[in-house]
Amino acid sequence: MADGAVVSTFDPYAVRAQFPILSRQVNGKPLVYLDNAASAQKPRAVIDALVATMEGGYANVHRGLHTLSNEATEAFEKAREIVARFLNAESAEQVVWTKGGTEAINLVANGLGLSIQPGDEIIVSEMEHHSNIVPWHLLRERRGAVIKWIPVKDDGSLDMAAYADLLGPRTRMVAVTHMSNVLGTINPVAEISRLAHAAGAQVLIDGCQGAVHATPDVQAIGCDFYVLTGHKLFAPTGIGALYGKAEALEALPPYQGGGEMIETVEQDRVTYARPPHRFEAGTPPILEAIGLGVASEWLAQYDRAAVQAHEHALYQHAVDRLQGETWLRVLGQAEGKGAILTFAVEGAHAHDVAQIMDRYGVAVRAGLHCAEPLAKRMGVTSSTRASFALYNTVEDADAFVDALIKARNFFV
Ligand SMILES: *Cc1c(COP(=O)(O)O)cnc(C)c1O
Repeated sequence: MADGAVVSTFDPYAVRAQFPILSRQVNGKPLVYLDNAASAQKPRAVIDALVATMEGGYANVHRGLHTLSNEATEAFEKAREIVARFLNAESAEQVVWTKGGTEAINLVANGLGLSIQPGDEIIVSEMEHHSNIVPWHLLRERRGAVIKWIPVKDDGSLDMAAYADLLGPRTRMVAVTHMSNVLGTINPVAEISRLAHAAGAQVLIDGCQGAVHATPDVQAIGCDFYVLTGHKLFAPTGIGALYGKAEALEALPPYQGGGEMIETVEQDRVTYARPPHRFEAGTPPILEAIGLGVASEWLAQYDRAAVQAHEHALYQHAVDRLQGETWLRVLGQAEGKGAILTFAVEGAHAHDVAQIMDRYGVAVRAGLHCAEPLAKRMGVTSSTRASFALYNTVEDADAFVDALIKARNFFV
């Protein structure tokens, strides 16, 4: 496990060697895994920590009556502290465990929904993932909330002037992604937060991609809520985290009822635990949370700026090699974007492109990428996406370009 020291020279081959799955073959070819925006692979440190916990220190948490429970509780709460540090939160009490990014956003939307009046406004952007759209649609359907949309410009950046105009006295929440899972755009989330707060609204930042590939510093961003998901951060599935400002979490009503989230339960009354436990009804995902702690500590050992530069260099290498290919349309070229290459191939369906690339061992995603309003905005019915992570290499980028050109040749 990491000891907190920063590795100064970034070596993707040394990183890659820590991921057992990356040495397997697919269809007789070496695996080229470029579906990281859908889910990332797991390093040995995470795999070993899960096995070690199950083999040596597992029990339910917060019961406090025997040694194994105490050890599990300690590991579980240490993971919360690590994730708090990863996000630069003021304290571990500001980190709520959820089962993923989707549940974290639903938790906030549900709590806010109880005080939504018809005509109250929620601002989202056209580039949101369905996870950061549908919970607000539920408030529209059930509570009469009005959803307003920040437009996306042709280059894939947000129209900030239009955003400023959307803010008003009825705005209750601004919910925007840190980094687009389709365009790779990294949004000016500190500025978005500042403007929202000046209008008296709360801000939720969807950091499911941003926590991995941008800088998830919640104090610098100034948001009320920040959401991340474990499985894209090299941790297991079934775990995510919701950061909330202390006063924002304190003001939020409980989400689900059950054990662990209460203070006292009587026949005619109930009182609730303080955050974060108020939002963690039932036995939590103990192993998964420990895995997320290990994964974020593992990632934090690397110089994040060097990682981002490496990922971007791979993206740029692929784009440069494809320069001048008129059959290719790349979606999103915003300044400072992350390493996500989403594209449409003239005359070919995105699913067919992805399936042909799979024959060459290259794993990419195709479809709407859980962002249907964005596809409509960009004028495509589907697209194919290659998303890079720190363990990808220039050989992966080359294999991607080679497989893409072969796939395209099926259609001419
Ligand atoms: C993956 C993703 C989500 C949803 O996260 P889950 O882990 O599937 O719940 C939300 N927003 C963005 C930007 C994502 O990439």
